[in-house]
Amino acid sequence: MATIDATTHAPAAGTLTRAVIDTFDRYVVPNYRRFPVCLVRGTGSRVWDAEGTEYLDLFPGWGCNLLGHCPEPVVRAVQEQVARLIHVPNTWYTEPQGEWARLLSERSFGGKAFFCNSGTEANEAAIKLVRLRTDGRRHKLITFRGGFHGRTMGSVSATAQPKYHEGLGPMLAGFSFAPHGDLDAVEKLVDDQTGGILVEPILGEGGVVPAPEGFLQGLRRIADEHDLLLVFDEVQCGCGRTGTWFGYQHFGVTPDIITLAKSLCAGISGGAMLTRADLAVHLRPGMHAATFGGNPVAAAAGIAAIRMIEEEGLLDHVTAAAEIFRARLEELRHHCPAVVAVRVIGMMIGVELAIDGAAVVEGCLEKRLLVNCTQGRVIRLLPAMTITPAEIHDGCDRLGEAIVEAAART
Ligand SMILES: *Cc1c(COP(=O)(O)O)cnc(C)c1O
Repeated sequence: MATIDATTHAPAAGTLTRAVIDTFDRYVVPNYRRFPVCLVRGTGSRVWDAEGTEYLDLFPGWGCNLLGHCPEPVVRAVQEQVARLIHVPNTWYTEPQGEWARLLSERSFGGKAFFCNSGTEANEAAIKLVRLRTDGRRHKLITFRGGFHGRTMGSVSATAQPKYHEGLGPMLAGFSFAPHGDLDAVEKLVDDQTGGILVEPILGEGGVVPAPEGFLQGLRRIADEHDLLLVFDEVQCGCGRTGTWFGYQHFGVTPDIITLAKSLCAGISGGAMLTRADLAVHLRPGMHAATFGGNPVAAAAGIAAIRMIEEEGLLDHVTAAAEIFRARLEELRHHCPAVVAVRVIGMMIGVELAIDGAAVVEGCLEKRLLVNCTQGRVIRLLPAMTITPAEIHDGCDRLGEAIVEAAART
């Protein structure tokens, strides 16, 4: 067991970890804040560092590891595919890409898929499709404060928060921002150059906040009245995480386009834009591409993830697991004034605090529990769909202690 560093509360880096950190310091661009922990292997909701310390991971892969670390059916499918055909470009047909598109289409609104490699790329495809539908005449998109859509220049321009724009200007033109939940503001922003509305049905980076009652219905109505495309960014909430295949299925509103990534391939990189079939014609050959998009390995992982979710009944499991989390975290809220609100939508969980969340994350790390903090005060959990009740209780015990201890220090 590693010892605790007095200043950071993080486990003190052992010799192996120290060597890795030294290499990073010399050769890796320092654009991420990292904990001094070097992870080397994982299984399910457990992960181990270079010194052999075991952690319970309630935030596996920033939500990408939807089925936990190294889920066996996904590992097997990738191993088989990678030995047969790793990559061919989209100048050829491959069976896995077509099958993957079919499975996604049948579980959503029956549209067509464009494949890419990440969330920001999926949103770029959606932005382009909105513009191409009218040959650029109606290029503008309305997005929302508190949303997050990615880091490439189009997606970052679509993201309202100024902190993501600092030093990067000028932003791509054509985006206007409404307060989240404010339909009147949306109505006022629509003009004859507006082509679409882009929104996360459940804000992720924004603090795990589901759309308020009636909001998505209202956006659907505005989109229909003004002939706008309604685009849902489901990069964080999609693919089964919330107990339905897609986040929008909780709200009874059907979008025209959804964007997916993060958990789409259960840890392998992959992204997708699903669009209504009649809109797909606007992405003609030559208008858009992603060299690695829909490659056989990502497709094999994506297909295996969907099959595993169905064969193991994981959508129902998520709904049951969410109730355990809710009960435990609500109990914590009643006993601990530092907990202001608890939001549980399947395996997408936000615990809003009255205190600084960073100290809680460090306290959790000290207890060998991996969690995340967003918006400064929201502890965010994106647990694996395979998490067991025992792991949930264990995780909530450790998280509760870390919050109570951090509150006592504040
Ligand atoms: C993470 C995220 C993105 C960006 O995805 P990348 O794969 O990092 O490009 C976009 N939208 C939402 C809602 C996200 O959570």
